[in-house]
Amino acid sequence: MGEKKYWDEKIETLPRLELEALQLESLKEIVAFSYENSPYYKRSFDEAGVKPSDIRTLGDLAKFPFVTKQTERDTQGVGSFLGEMCAVSESEVVYVSASSGSTGVPTLSPFTKQDFDEWQDVESRLFYQVGMRNTDRYVHALNFTLFVGGPDVIGAQNLGALCIWAGTVPSERLLFILKEFQPTVIWTTPSYAWYLGESAKKIGIDPARDLAINKILVAGESGGSIEVTREAIEKLWDAKLYDFFGISDIFGACAAMCDAKDGLHIAEDHILVESVDLHTGEILEDRKQGELVLTTLRKHARPMIRFRTGDIGYVERKKCECGRTHARISIVGRKDDMFIVSGVNIFPSDVEFVVRGLKGISGEYLIRVFDKNFTASYSLEIEKEEGSSESDEALAERVSTALKARIGVKPSKVIISKDGELPRATHKAKRLIDERKLNYNI
Ligand SMILES: [Zn+2]
Repeated sequence: MGEKKYWDEKIETLPRLELEALQLESLKEIVAFSYENSPYYKRSFDEAGVKPSDIRTLGDLAKFPFVTKQTERDTQGVGSFLGEMCAVSESEVVYVSASSGSTGVPTLSPFTKQDFDEWQDVESRLFYQVGMRNTDRYVHALNFTLFVGGPDVIGAQNLGALCIWAGTVPSERLLFILKEFQPTVIWTTPSYAWYLGESAKKIGIDPARDLAINKILVAGESGGSIEVTREAIEKLWDAKLYDFFGISDIFGACAAMCDAKDGLHIAEDHILVESVDLHTGEILEDRKQGELVLTTLRKHARPMIRFRTGDIGYVERKKCECGRTHARISIVGRKDDMFIVSGVNIFPSDVEFVVRGLKGISGEYLIRVFDKNFTASYSLEIEKEEGSSESDEALAERVSTALKARIGVKPSKVIISKDGELPRATHKAKRLIDERKLNYNI
Protein backbone atom coordinates (compact mmCIF):
# COMPACT_ATOMS: atom_id res chain seq x y z
CA MET A 1 0.00 0.00 0.00
CA GLY A 2 1.37 3.40 -0.96
CA GLU A 3 1.66 6.28 1.40
CA LYS A 4 -1.56 8.17 1.95
CA LYS A 5 -1.71 11.60 0.35
CA TYR A 6 -3.78 13.32 3.02
CA TRP A 7 -4.01 13.02 6.79
CA ASP A 8 -7.81 12.93 6.58
CA GLU A 9 -8.73 12.54 2.92
CA LYS A 10 -12.51 12.55 3.41
CA ILE A 11 -12.56 15.87 5.29
CA GLU A 12 -9.73 17.59 3.43
CA THR A 13 -11.15 16.91 -0.04
CA LEU A 14 -14.85 17.15 0.81
CA PRO A 15 -16.68 18.84 -2.11
CA ARG A 16 -17.49 22.46 -1.18
CA LEU A 17 -21.24 21.96 -1.06
CA GLU A 18 -20.84 19.14 1.44
CA LEU A 19 -18.20 21.06 3.37
CA GLU A 20 -20.51 24.05 3.63
CA ALA A 21 -23.42 21.83 4.70
CA LEU A 22 -21.19 20.43 7.44
CA GLN A 23 -20.18 23.96 8.47
CA LEU A 24 -23.81 25.05 8.62
CA GLU A 25 -24.74 22.12 10.84
CA SER A 26 -21.82 22.87 13.21
CA LEU A 27 -22.55 26.59 13.15
CA LYS A 28 -26.19 26.09 14.20
CA GLU A 29 -25.05 23.88 17.05
CA ILE A 30 -22.29 26.15 18.34
CA VAL A 31 -24.38 29.33 18.14
CA ALA A 32 -27.19 27.65 20.10
CA PHE A 33 -24.69 26.21 22.59
CA SER A 34 -23.05 29.61 23.08
CA TYR A 35 -26.40 31.33 23.60
CA GLU A 36 -27.47 28.79 26.18
CA ASN A 37 -24.21 28.50 28.08
CA SER A 38 -22.18 31.69 27.81
CA PRO A 39 -23.50 34.72 29.72
CA TYR A 40 -21.68 37.00 27.28
CA TYR A 41 -23.21 35.56 24.10
CA LYS A 42 -26.69 35.46 25.65
CA ARG A 43 -26.47 39.17 26.40
CA SER A 44 -24.75 40.12 23.16
CA PHE A 45 -27.23 38.25 20.91
CA ASP A 46 -30.19 39.65 22.85
CA GLU A 47 -28.83 43.17 22.51
CA ALA A 48 -28.33 42.70 18.78
CA GLY A 49 -31.82 41.22 18.45
CA VAL A 50 -30.62 37.91 17.00
CA LYS A 51 -31.41 34.33 18.02
CA PRO A 52 -29.71 31.02 17.22
CA SER A 53 -32.73 30.06 15.08
CA ASP A 54 -31.85 32.99 12.75
CA ILE A 55 -29.04 30.85 11.33
CA ARG A 56 -30.56 29.15 8.30
CA THR A 57 -27.66 29.64 5.89
CA LEU A 58 -23.96 30.40 6.44
CA GLY A 59 -24.66 33.94 5.20
CA ASP A 60 -26.99 34.52 8.16
CA LEU A 61 -23.95 34.71 10.39
CA ALA A 62 -23.52 38.28 9.06
CA LYS A 63 -26.44 39.35 11.28
CA PHE A 64 -24.47 38.45 14.39
CA PRO A 65 -22.21 40.90 16.23
CA PHE A 66 -18.42 40.75 16.12
CA VAL A 67 -16.20 39.98 19.08
CA THR A 68 -12.77 41.56 19.45
CA LYS A 69 -9.73 41.35 21.66
CA GLN A 70 -11.38 44.05 23.75
CA THR A 71 -14.45 41.82 24.28
CA GLU A 72 -12.11 39.16 25.65
CA ARG A 73 -10.47 41.64 28.02
CA ASP A 74 -13.77 43.14 29.18
CA THR A 75 -15.32 39.76 30.00
CA GLN A 76 -12.26 37.99 31.38
CA GLY A 77 -12.47 37.33 35.12
CA VAL A 78 -16.10 38.47 35.19
CA GLY A 79 -18.27 35.91 37.00
CA SER A 80 -15.47 33.36 37.03
CA PHE A 81 -11.75 33.06 36.43
CA LEU A 82 -12.34 32.27 32.75
CA GLY A 83 -14.90 35.00 32.28
CA GLU A 84 -18.28 35.45 30.71
CA MET A 85 -17.42 34.23 27.20
CA CYS A 86 -16.63 30.80 28.58
CA ALA A 87 -19.47 28.31 28.00
CA VAL A 88 -18.43 25.38 30.22
CA SER A 89 -17.63 25.02 33.90
CA GLU A 90 -14.00 25.25 34.93
CA SER A 91 -13.98 21.54 35.83
CA GLU A 92 -14.33 20.74 32.10
CA VAL A 93 -11.34 22.89 31.14
CA VAL A 94 -8.03 21.02 30.84
CA TYR A 95 -5.76 23.60 29.25
CA VAL A 96 -5.50 27.36 29.03
CA SER A 97 -3.10 29.39 26.91
CA ALA A 98 -2.43 33.10 27.30
CA SER A 99 -1.61 35.74 24.71
CA SER A 100 1.74 37.48 25.03
CA GLY A 101 0.10 40.63 26.33
CA SER A 102 2.18 42.74 23.96
CA THR A 103 -0.81 44.98 23.31
CA GLY A 104 -2.42 44.91 26.75
CA VAL A 105 -3.56 42.48 29.46
CA PRO A 106 -2.84 38.85 28.44
CA THR A 107 -6.02 37.08 27.41
CA LEU A 108 -6.73 33.46 28.31
CA SER A 109 -7.88 30.82 25.86
CA PRO A 110 -9.45 27.75 27.50
CA PHE A 111 -9.89 24.27 26.00
CA THR A 112 -11.96 21.26 27.07
CA LYS A 113 -10.44 17.80 26.65
CA GLN A 114 -12.33 17.39 23.39
CA ASP A 115 -11.33 20.89 22.16
CA PHE A 116 -7.71 20.06 22.89
CA ASP A 117 -7.74 16.66 21.16
CA GLU A 118 -9.51 18.00 18.09
CA TRP A 119 -7.06 20.92 17.94
CA GLN A 120 -4.12 18.52 17.96
CA ASP A 121 -5.74 16.47 15.20
CA VAL A 122 -5.88 19.66 13.11
CA GLU A 123 -2.19 20.21 13.87
CA SER A 124 -1.39 16.64 12.71
CA ARG A 125 -3.32 17.38 9.51
CA LEU A 126 -1.36 20.57 8.83
CA PHE A 127 1.98 18.91 9.62
CA TYR A 128 1.11 16.04 7.27
CA GLN A 129 0.11 18.57 4.61
CA VAL A 130 3.61 20.06 4.58
CA GLY A 131 5.11 16.61 4.25
CA MET A 132 5.98 15.66 7.84
CA ARG A 133 5.94 11.87 8.25
CA ASN A 134 6.64 9.36 11.02
CA THR A 135 10.19 9.05 9.69
CA ASP A 136 10.91 12.71 10.47
CA ARG A 137 12.74 14.10 13.46
CA TYR A 138 11.02 17.30 14.44
CA VAL A 139 12.37 20.16 16.56
CA HIS A 140 9.63 22.26 18.12
CA ALA A 141 11.46 25.53 18.77
CA LEU A 142 8.44 27.52 19.96
CA ASN A 143 7.81 28.89 23.42
CA PHE A 144 6.15 26.43 25.80
CA THR A 145 5.29 28.96 28.51
CA LEU A 146 1.56 29.75 28.19
CA PHE A 147 1.97 30.17 24.42
CA VAL A 148 -0.70 28.42 22.35
CA GLY A 149 1.93 27.24 19.85
CA GLY A 150 3.64 25.15 22.55
CA PRO A 151 1.26 22.17 22.63
CA ASP A 152 1.27 21.89 18.81
CA VAL A 153 4.20 19.53 19.25
CA ILE A 154 1.63 16.93 20.37
CA GLY A 155 0.08 17.06 16.90
CA ALA A 156 3.48 16.15 15.43
CA GLN A 157 3.88 13.38 17.97
CA ASN A 158 0.40 11.98 17.20
CA LEU A 159 1.47 11.89 13.55
CA GLY A 160 4.34 9.68 14.59
CA ALA A 161 7.31 12.02 14.14
CA LEU A 162 10.15 11.83 16.64
CA CYS A 163 9.65 15.07 18.54
CA ILE A 164 12.30 17.14 20.25
CA TRP A 165 10.69 19.58 22.67
CA ALA A 166 13.33 22.27 22.36
CA GLY A 167 11.29 25.37 23.16
CA THR A 168 13.02 28.73 22.93
CA VAL A 169 16.50 27.74 24.04
CA PRO A 170 19.52 29.97 23.33
CA SER A 171 20.70 29.62 19.74
CA GLU A 172 23.98 27.86 20.68
CA ARG A 173 21.93 25.17 22.40
CA LEU A 174 19.57 24.86 19.45
CA LEU A 175 22.48 24.57 17.02
CA PHE A 176 23.90 21.84 19.24
CA ILE A 177 20.58 19.97 18.94
CA LEU A 178 20.54 20.44 15.17
CA LYS A 179 24.09 19.16 14.85
CA GLU A 180 23.94 16.26 17.28
CA PHE A 181 20.45 14.90 16.54
CA GLN A 182 20.27 15.87 12.86
CA PRO A 183 16.52 16.61 12.87
CA THR A 184 14.76 17.08 9.53
CA VAL A 185 12.00 19.56 10.39
CA ILE A 186 11.99 22.71 12.55
CA TRP A 187 9.31 25.26 13.46
CA THR A 188 10.30 28.82 14.36
CA THR A 189 9.73 32.38 13.11
CA PRO A 190 11.11 33.56 9.72
CA SER A 191 13.40 36.10 11.44
CA TYR A 192 14.80 33.44 13.70
CA ALA A 193 15.25 30.92 10.88
CA TRP A 194 17.39 33.52 9.15
CA TYR A 195 19.27 34.50 12.30
CA LEU A 196 19.91 30.88 13.25
CA GLY A 197 21.25 30.01 9.80
CA GLU A 198 23.58 33.02 9.85
CA SER A 199 24.70 32.16 13.42
CA ALA A 200 25.50 28.63 12.31
CA LYS A 201 27.70 29.92 9.51
CA LYS A 202 29.62 32.12 11.94
CA ILE A 203 30.71 29.05 13.93
CA GLY A 204 31.63 27.07 10.85
CA ILE A 205 28.41 25.09 10.34
CA ASP A 206 26.88 25.34 6.87
CA PRO A 207 23.14 24.86 7.45
CA ALA A 208 22.65 23.68 3.87
CA ARG A 209 25.44 21.09 3.96
CA ASP A 210 26.10 20.13 7.59
CA LEU A 211 22.54 19.94 8.92
CA ALA A 212 19.69 17.61 7.95
CA ILE A 213 16.85 20.16 8.12
CA ASN A 214 14.80 19.85 4.93
CA LYS A 215 11.61 21.60 6.05
CA ILE A 216 11.24 24.86 7.96
CA LEU A 217 7.83 25.78 9.34
CA VAL A 218 7.34 29.40 10.25
CA ALA A 219 4.64 31.57 11.80
CA GLY A 220 4.19 34.79 13.72
CA GLU A 221 5.44 37.16 11.00
CA SER A 222 4.58 37.67 7.36
CA GLY A 223 8.01 36.57 6.03
CA GLY A 224 6.90 33.02 5.22
CA SER A 225 4.43 34.31 2.67
CA ILE A 226 6.80 36.84 1.10
CA GLU A 227 8.37 34.95 -1.79
CA VAL A 228 11.76 36.67 -1.69
CA THR A 229 12.14 36.17 2.06
CA ARG A 230 11.02 32.56 1.77
CA GLU A 231 13.46 31.85 -1.03
CA ALA A 232 16.37 33.47 0.83
CA ILE A 233 15.75 31.27 3.89
CA GLU A 234 15.24 28.18 1.71
CA LYS A 235 18.57 28.83 0.00
CA LEU A 236 20.41 29.41 3.27
CA TRP A 237 19.19 26.07 4.65
CA ASP A 238 18.66 24.12 1.42
CA ALA A 239 15.20 23.35 2.79
CA LYS A 240 11.58 24.00 1.90
CA LEU A 241 9.78 26.66 3.90
CA TYR A 242 6.06 26.56 4.78
CA ASP A 243 4.09 29.38 6.34
CA PHE A 244 1.67 28.64 9.21
CA PHE A 245 -0.98 30.87 10.76
CA GLY A 246 -2.24 30.64 14.31
CA ILE A 247 -3.74 32.88 16.97
CA SER A 248 -3.80 32.45 20.70
CA ASP A 249 -7.58 32.94 20.76
CA ILE A 250 -8.21 29.86 18.60
CA PHE A 251 -5.51 27.31 17.69
CA GLY A 252 -1.69 27.29 17.69
CA ALA A 253 -2.05 26.74 13.96
CA CYS A 254 -5.36 27.30 12.16
CA ALA A 255 -3.92 27.20 8.64
CA ALA A 256 -0.80 26.18 6.73
CA MET A 257 0.64 26.23 3.23
CA CYS A 258 0.61 23.19 0.99
CA ASP A 259 3.13 22.48 -1.76
CA ALA A 260 1.28 24.85 -4.12
CA LYS A 261 2.43 27.69 -1.79
CA ASP A 262 -0.49 29.84 -2.88
CA GLY A 263 -2.11 30.79 0.42
CA LEU A 264 -2.65 28.77 3.59
CA HIS A 265 -5.39 26.10 3.85
CA ILE A 266 -7.55 26.83 6.86
CA ALA A 267 -9.21 23.90 8.66
CA GLU A 268 -12.72 24.85 7.57
CA ASP A 269 -14.46 22.01 9.35
CA HIS A 270 -13.34 23.75 12.58
CA ILE A 271 -13.08 27.39 11.58
CA LEU A 272 -15.33 29.53 9.42
CA VAL A 273 -13.51 32.41 7.76
CA GLU A 274 -14.84 35.75 6.54
CA SER A 275 -13.01 38.80 5.19
CA VAL A 276 -14.72 42.05 6.14
CA ASP A 277 -14.34 45.70 5.24
CA LEU A 278 -12.13 47.40 7.84
CA HIS A 279 -14.53 50.28 8.36
CA THR A 280 -18.04 49.05 7.58
CA GLY A 281 -17.65 45.41 8.66
CA GLU A 282 -19.37 44.27 5.45
CA ILE A 283 -18.40 40.88 4.10
CA LEU A 284 -16.08 41.06 1.11
CA GLU A 285 -15.92 38.72 -1.87
CA ASP A 286 -13.15 36.21 -2.31
CA ARG A 287 -9.73 37.71 -3.08
CA LYS A 288 -10.76 41.14 -1.72
CA GLN A 289 -8.46 42.32 1.03
CA GLY A 290 -10.05 42.96 4.42
CA GLU A 291 -9.84 42.00 8.08
CA LEU A 292 -10.11 38.26 8.64
CA VAL A 293 -12.95 37.24 10.93
CA LEU A 294 -12.95 33.72 12.34
CA THR A 295 -15.70 31.66 13.94
CA THR A 296 -14.85 28.46 15.77
CA LEU A 297 -17.33 25.75 14.81
CA ARG A 298 -16.47 23.11 17.38
CA LYS A 299 -14.69 24.67 20.36
CA HIS A 300 -16.89 24.47 23.41
CA ALA A 301 -14.84 25.95 26.28
CA ARG A 302 -14.91 29.40 24.77
CA PRO A 303 -16.57 29.58 21.38
CA MET A 304 -15.47 32.48 19.20
CA ILE A 305 -18.36 33.77 17.14
CA ARG A 306 -17.14 36.29 14.54
CA PHE A 307 -13.79 37.15 16.07
CA ARG A 308 -12.06 40.08 14.38
CA THR A 309 -8.47 38.88 14.25
CA GLY A 310 -6.76 42.18 13.44
CA ASP A 311 -5.07 40.35 10.55
CA ILE A 312 -5.49 41.81 7.10
CA GLY A 313 -5.70 39.42 4.19
CA TYR A 314 -8.03 37.70 1.76
CA VAL A 315 -9.77 34.38 1.23
CA GLU A 316 -9.68 32.09 -1.81
CA ARG A 317 -12.26 29.29 -1.98
CA LYS A 318 -11.34 27.90 -5.42
CA LYS A 319 -10.09 24.32 -5.27
CA CYS A 320 -6.33 24.13 -4.88
CA GLU A 321 -4.08 22.14 -7.20
CA CYS A 322 -3.19 19.90 -4.24
CA GLY A 323 -6.75 18.56 -4.25
CA ARG A 324 -7.80 20.09 -0.94
CA THR A 325 -11.11 21.92 -1.00
CA HIS A 326 -10.65 23.97 2.17
CA ALA A 327 -10.29 27.72 1.66
CA ARG A 328 -6.88 29.35 1.55
CA ILE A 329 -6.09 32.56 3.39
CA SER A 330 -3.32 34.99 2.51
CA ILE A 331 -2.24 37.47 5.13
CA VAL A 332 -0.51 40.74 4.34
CA GLY A 333 -0.05 42.04 7.88
CA ARG A 334 -1.52 43.14 11.19
CA LYS A 335 -4.05 45.96 11.20
CA ASP A 336 -1.94 47.57 13.96
CA ASP A 337 1.14 47.62 11.70
CA MET A 338 -0.60 49.21 8.74
CA PHE A 339 0.20 52.86 8.15
CA ILE A 340 -1.23 55.28 5.64
CA VAL A 341 0.93 57.62 3.56
CA SER A 342 -0.67 59.81 0.90
CA GLY A 343 -3.84 57.74 1.09
CA VAL A 344 -2.03 54.45 0.45
CA ASN A 345 -2.26 51.59 2.98
CA ILE A 346 1.25 50.28 3.58
CA PHE A 347 2.29 47.13 5.42
CA PRO A 348 5.84 46.33 6.52
CA SER A 349 5.50 43.21 4.33
CA ASP A 350 5.30 45.44 1.21
CA VAL A 351 8.57 47.09 2.19
CA GLU A 352 10.13 43.73 3.02
CA PHE A 353 9.18 42.41 -0.41
CA VAL A 354 11.23 45.21 -2.00
CA VAL A 355 14.16 45.18 0.42
CA ARG A 356 14.72 41.43 0.26
CA GLY A 357 14.58 41.44 -3.51
CA LEU A 358 17.32 44.02 -4.11
CA LYS A 359 20.99 43.22 -4.53
CA GLY A 360 23.77 44.95 -2.61
CA ILE A 361 21.88 45.23 0.70
CA SER A 362 21.63 42.84 3.64
CA GLY A 363 17.83 42.47 3.70
CA GLU A 364 17.49 43.86 7.23
CA TYR A 365 15.43 47.03 7.56
CA LEU A 366 13.77 49.41 9.96
CA ILE A 367 10.76 51.57 9.11
CA ARG A 368 9.94 54.73 11.03
CA VAL A 369 6.59 56.40 10.58
CA PHE A 370 6.28 60.00 11.70
CA ASP A 371 4.38 63.20 11.05
CA LYS A 372 6.05 65.80 8.90
CA ASN A 373 4.11 69.07 8.53
CA PHE A 374 1.02 67.23 9.87
CA THR A 375 1.28 64.61 7.13
CA ALA A 376 2.36 61.01 7.67
CA SER A 377 5.72 60.07 6.16
CA TYR A 378 8.03 57.13 6.51
CA SER A 379 11.76 56.64 6.46
CA LEU A 380 13.60 53.42 5.82
CA GLU A 381 16.94 52.33 7.21
CA ILE A 382 18.77 49.57 5.36
CA GLU A 383 22.26 48.05 5.41
CA LYS A 384 24.73 48.23 2.52
CA GLU A 385 26.51 44.97 1.93
CA GLU A 386 30.17 44.89 2.92
CA GLY A 387 32.51 45.52 0.01
CA SER A 388 29.84 47.23 -2.12
CA SER A 389 31.29 49.99 -4.31
CA GLU A 390 27.94 51.72 -4.86
CA SER A 391 27.68 55.22 -3.36
CA ASP A 392 25.16 55.76 -0.56
CA GLU A 393 23.31 58.28 -2.71
CA ALA A 394 22.96 55.90 -5.64
CA LEU A 395 21.82 53.07 -3.36
CA ALA A 396 19.25 55.29 -1.61
CA GLU A 397 17.88 56.37 -4.96
CA ARG A 398 17.66 52.77 -6.21
CA VAL A 399 15.76 51.65 -3.09
CA SER A 400 13.49 54.66 -3.21
CA THR A 401 12.57 54.02 -6.84
CA ALA A 402 11.87 50.34 -6.16
CA LEU A 403 9.58 51.27 -3.24
CA LYS A 404 7.74 53.80 -5.38
CA ALA A 405 7.20 51.15 -8.06
CA ARG A 406 5.86 48.53 -5.63
CA ILE A 407 3.93 50.63 -3.12
CA GLY A 408 3.26 53.86 -4.96
CA VAL A 409 4.81 56.12 -2.32
CA LYS A 410 8.48 56.95 -1.83
CA PRO A 411 9.95 57.13 1.66
CA SER A 412 10.91 60.64 2.76
CA LYS A 413 14.40 59.36 3.43
CA VAL A 414 16.50 56.20 2.95
CA ILE A 415 19.18 55.85 5.61
CA ILE A 416 22.16 53.71 4.71
CA SER A 417 23.89 51.82 7.51
CA LYS A 418 26.79 49.40 7.52
CA ASP A 419 26.18 45.66 7.37
CA GLY A 420 25.38 44.39 10.88
CA GLU A 421 24.33 47.74 12.34
CA LEU A 422 20.62 47.07 12.56
CA PRO A 423 19.49 44.85 15.45
CA ARG A 424 18.99 41.18 14.56
CA ALA A 425 15.76 39.66 15.76
CA THR A 426 15.98 36.46 17.71
CA HIS A 427 12.26 35.72 17.71
CA LYS A 428 9.56 38.14 16.65
CA ALA A 429 11.18 41.01 14.81
CA LYS A 430 10.23 44.61 15.48
CA ARG A 431 10.90 46.35 12.20
CA LEU A 432 8.37 49.14 12.44
CA ILE A 433 8.53 52.11 14.79
CA ASP A 434 5.54 54.38 14.63
CA GLU A 435 6.82 57.55 16.27
CA ARG A 436 3.35 59.06 16.29
CA LYS A 437 2.19 56.30 18.64
CA LEU A 438 5.26 56.78 20.86
CA ASN A 439 4.35 60.43 21.32
CA TYR A 440 0.87 59.56 22.42
CA ASN A 441 2.23 57.33 25.16
CA ILE A 442 4.31 59.99 26.88
ZN1 LIG B 1 -3.33 23.21 -1.57
